[in-house]
Amino acid sequence: QLNCGIVGLPNVGKSTIFSALTSAPAESANYPFCTIEPNVGIVEVPDKRLGMISELITPQKIIPAVVEFVDIAGLVKGASKGEGLGNKFLGHIRQVGAIIHVVRCFDDDDIVHVNGVVDPASDIEIIGIELALADLETVLKRQENLVKQMKSHDKKISDKAKAADPILKQIANALEEGRPARSVELDKIQKELISDLHLITMKQQLYCCNVNEDGLDSDNEYVKKVKALAQKDDSQVVVISGKLESEIADLDSQEEKNEFLEAAGLEESGLDQLIRTGYDMLGLNTYFTAGEKEVRAWTFPKGCKAPQAAGIIHTDFERGFIKAESYHCTDLFEYKSELKLKEAGKIRLEGKDYQVLDGDVLNFRFNV
Ligand code: GDP
Repeated sequence: QLNCGIVGLPNVGKSTIFSALTSAPAESANYPFCTIEPNVGIVEVPDKRLGMISELITPQKIIPAVVEFVDIAGLVKGASKGEGLGNKFLGHIRQVGAIIHVVRCFDDDDIVHVNGVVDPASDIEIIGIELALADLETVLKRQENLVKQMKSHDKKISDKAKAADPILKQIANALEEGRPARSVELDKIQKELISDLHLITMKQQLYCCNVNEDGLDSDNEYVKKVKALAQKDDSQVVVISGKLESEIADLDSQEEKNEFLEAAGLEESGLDQLIRTGYDMLGLNTYFTAGEKEVRAWTFPKGCKAPQAAGIIHTDFERGFIKAESYHCTDLFEYKSELKLKEAGKIRLEGKDYQVLDGDVLNFRFNV
């Protein structure tokens, strides 16, 4: 589930943001594992380090990491009761790794708001209630099953049910009080016991405030409200202007885009920030491989060990893993070449217990 689902009420700017995100499609040949569907976008992860490494190594090809975004339109009030297509959309949300909730934070008399008035707090509440109700139903169903399982003669089954039961009670309580499941503190084992429920409110969430171009300098009243709510329900916030982003996305070259951003007084586009925050919410980090042929960014789950990181390139690399020659990209930026790194003794040989760090440059040695 290495993807972010984009949700929100109708007319808040989801499609505008999704099409800006996917306006420069990643070269799919490099990413054979990615799904190709109209509502799925494979988006390159902006990473200055990749360019900096490439300037020093001068490869023939540069390949960035990617992350998937899924446009999940159609969430409306009453979705959890199966009204309209609501239930189907909830099913899609269960399948994503993290949620980006687009909230309308702009005034525009020409664009109808489904409830007649721009009110982020009420929008967030409507969606929050639908998601919580959907989860509550899932939890209640499971609790019914657990009652039977706890009486099972198979000790393994009854023990597992007994362990899961109090966790579900806590989650049900939270949901009934309007808190997301992720607000219940659970350890890794407890989380695993209920992971197959795919609870929506257990996922990491980000509010994407969609503002007008002039709303980027300082937070408007709507954004302030969203930020206050985000603090309460343990969510992150990114402020972007969908309209401005779609204008930037329409520009042809990166140079033009940079000029545009500079003129607007922005250091980076809001989309870049959105992509990076999404990547981070999914618990993803990046390591690099660097050779004359190709400098490439690879995505791995935070905390993963060297052999698993190698397996992301090819399963053979994991199976036959011997060592990883490794250094951190910041060392390369300091010493300017791999040769100098070697002379300075900065290239380490790491074994199978090495925990890969974000920004490592790795060269795997393996048996075939
Ligand atoms: P969706 O239903 O959530 O997918 O919303 P859309 O992306 O289709 O946007 C609804 C309308 O709002 C469209 O007419 C967009 O052009 C407009 N819109 C999107 N973002 C902005 C924005 O930042 N400012 C303004 N004024 N209009 C926007």
